[in-house]
Amino acid sequence: MIDFQYTAPATLDEAVENLNSNNEVQILAGGTDIIVQLREGHRTADVVLDVKKIPELRQIETGSDGSLTIGAAVPCWQLYTDASSAAHCGALVDATRIIGGWQIQSRASVGGNLCNSSPAADSISPLIVSKATALIYGPAGTREIPVAEFCTGPGRNILERGELLTGIRIPKPPAESGSAYQRFIPRNEMDIAVAGAATWVRLDPAGETIEEARIALAAVAPTPVIAQEAGNWLAGQPATQETFERAGELAKQVANPIDDMRGTAEYRVHLASVLTRRTLEKACERARG
Ligand SMILES: Cc1cc2nc3c(=O)[nH]c(=O)nc-3n(C[C@H](O)[C@H](O)[C@H](O)COP(=O)(O)OP(=O)(O)OC[C@H]3O[C@@H](n4cnc5c(N)ncnc54)[C@H](O)[C@@H]3O)c2cc1C
Repeated sequence: MIDFQYTAPATLDEAVENLNSNNEVQILAGGTDIIVQLREGHRTADVVLDVKKIPELRQIETGSDGSLTIGAAVPCWQLYTDASSAAHCGALVDATRIIGGWQIQSRASVGGNLCNSSPAADSISPLIVSKATALIYGPAGTREIPVAEFCTGPGRNILERGELLTGIRIPKPPAESGSAYQRFIPRNEMDIAVAGAATWVRLDPAGETIEEARIALAAVAPTPVIAQEAGNWLAGQPATQETFERAGELAKQVANPIDDMRGTAEYRVHLASVLTRRTLEKACERARG
């Protein structure tokens, strides 16, 4: 491990001041990615800036418009033990339950998962289907951008020098809506996704017809990818197994994966279809309450 200085500012402005110094600064939330990357020499740092002492980054808040704002450093366990989060964004809560084991979940944050910007990250596709936005603070003030536009490549994102993620905002879900996330891994835990799928649906009041749907896939492209055509096709379809299967076949067409030690490209494309079908079934079940 290289030597670095450690700092833990208590305010956003102090953090931004540090990020704009001449030092090479790496942000640390839970540290479950960055510490490994520093130790293995994939990243370097003069200063490691711990954001966990900034109060805004540790809160889960419901706004007056019913949206949920999750501070960038909120650890996974806090989300899956928070009843309002489970009701608000089932797919995201599914993801937080399977990121690593419980030791990892006690530190790892959704903000860190997003900023690490791995194509296989479990929480990003759930955020995309929930229409979440990333709240960013930097020298030029605040900006808010859709999570769908956040990742630009493996390990890369739209954050500019001096900026940090302060939180993630998820709009209030409409009535009769639900979401789900599933991934496939070779072992039961402590591995990253071979492929993952997040789906979101809104049903008619009878719970029989899909009125609106969104699908996003993980680990099948350089960034999480939206299956737009499949989502559009689902609007107006009956919420049946045949529909879920057809949507899976359509969704897999946006998959453009690589072969690696976890699975072949062909296998990942197949998984994209299976996981889309299964999560649609679950999302519809949740939408019916
Ligand atoms: C044993 C093990 C198992 C794991 N299993 C999984 C898994 O199943 N699924 C999965 O998706 N991931 C997994 N991971 C990866 C990791 O745990 C997750 O990506 C986690 O969510 C990262 O969160 P963190 O708070 O620890 O991030 P950190 O390591 O603190 O930060 C990650 C990156 O984001 C940057 N960053 C953090 N916060 C901010 C911010 N507020 N603003 C700007 N940049 C920021 C950091 O500088 C760093 O580049 C695993 C890791 C380990 C070690």
